[in-house]
Amino acid sequence: MAVVGAGIIGATLAWRLAQQGLQVDVYDAGTFAGESSAAGAGMLAPGGEAHELASWARDTVIARAMYPAFVRELREASGQAIDFRECGAVDLALDEADWIGLQRRREVQQQLGIAVQELSRAECRRMTPALSPQAAASAFPALWFPDDATVSPREITAALALLLPRLGVRIHEHCAIGACTWRGTHFELRGKAGATSSGPAGGRPRLAADAVVIAAGAWSSSIAVEAEAGTPTTAPRPAEPIRGHLIQCTRRPGTLGPIVRHQHLYVFQRQNGAVISGSNEEHVGFQRTPNLQAVQAIHQHTEALLPGLFPPLSDSYWLGFRPGIAGSGPEVRRLGELPLWLAYGHYRNGILLAPHTAARLCREISDGPPHDGDAA
Ligand SMILES: Cc1cc2nc3c(=O)[nH]c(=O)nc-3n(C[C@H](O)[C@H](O)[C@H](O)COP(=O)(O)OP(=O)(O)OC[C@H]3O[C@@H](n4cnc5c(N)ncnc54)[C@H](O)[C@@H]3O)c2cc1C
Repeated sequence: MAVVGAGIIGATLAWRLAQQGLQVDVYDAGTFAGESSAAGAGMLAPGGEAHELASWARDTVIARAMYPAFVRELREASGQAIDFRECGAVDLALDEADWIGLQRRREVQQQLGIAVQELSRAECRRMTPALSPQAAASAFPALWFPDDATVSPREITAALALLLPRLGVRIHEHCAIGACTWRGTHFELRGKAGATSSGPAGGRPRLAADAVVIAAGAWSSSIAVEAEAGTPTTAPRPAEPIRGHLIQCTRRPGTLGPIVRHQHLYVFQRQNGAVISGSNEEHVGFQRTPNLQAVQAIHQHTEALLPGLFPPLSDSYWLGFRPGIAGSGPEVRRLGELPLWLAYGHYRNGILLAPHTAARLCREISDGPPHDGDAA
């Protein structure tokens, strides 16, 4: 079994497959979990993200419920510390438009089974004492999402990096796959044209795999799938990078309690004191030069809500490419009759959805396609 892409999605799935006794090879164009999964903030926040009655939104709720056991299992098996905070989130409404937006979202979220409560001005101030006087004096209530949480994505993938080799998973870094061609009994994996890595394009023989999972995040559509004529497939939806920036500073641990959100901004603190704020969305391809105006805008918005939290000229920021996708929700499915599965397009929620996607696909790959009546 070949897993193409060693982000949190591919790595979590590889772990689950190896636990079932499958021999797994993981190929990554760069380094293990070095792209979106290293850049992600790590909010586990159906309350901030699920805004439509769709199956992906229901999956965020299931995935959030899976997280405590997922983290416990990773910690116990690997010995790696993982910062996981069940801290809840406060969503602020500073004007009528904000409040109308929050109410609309709440209606949908209650149908999804997401816990949400209205907070009075006094309760909001008590939970978030660092709020600016203007934000604290808002004429509109805030919403409280007690189940929203945060995790350190880098610590999750550090645990997976320790665990995979112990289960015999072979990790091939700097090994970009360009095409998977079905040869009737197996797939042939070819390197990307022009790749100079040690992968199949770099002089090694072509690779073979009995089955393939494409989990290459925002790059997934650049991997060609070639089937024999007549093999029925449904064309996968195209992936596209949606770039986002985050800023970070360090404050005394405990300075922030819950996640604070306003419109598209979120601010939260890790156990080690790191305060993270973001983000923005840009459709600029795989452009790696940071947008300093976007960084400044995140800083200003944070300052307006939580004055003095960030130093004035913060130079600690980074960017990443969310795996966006046309349509609603990620591509998590088998491609027609081929032994090839798609696991990409998790957009803003790949850290949250990883245990759910891995469990679902692992079940499907090891047991065959789901039958009527199986849990989603
Ligand atoms: C700024 C920002 C904030 C975010 N915040 C959150 C959050 O708070 N909560 C949340 O749940 N999610 C968040 N996300 C989204 C989350 O990070 C992603 O959804 C998730 O990391 C996707 O994981 P992945 O494994 O699909 O992709 P990736 O982590 O990008 O992994 C894909 C891997 O495939 C490899 N690859 C690419 N091409 C090839 C090839 N041809 N052959 C082999 N390998 C290849 C890449 O090198 C990469 O390692 C955020 C993302 C960003 C950018």
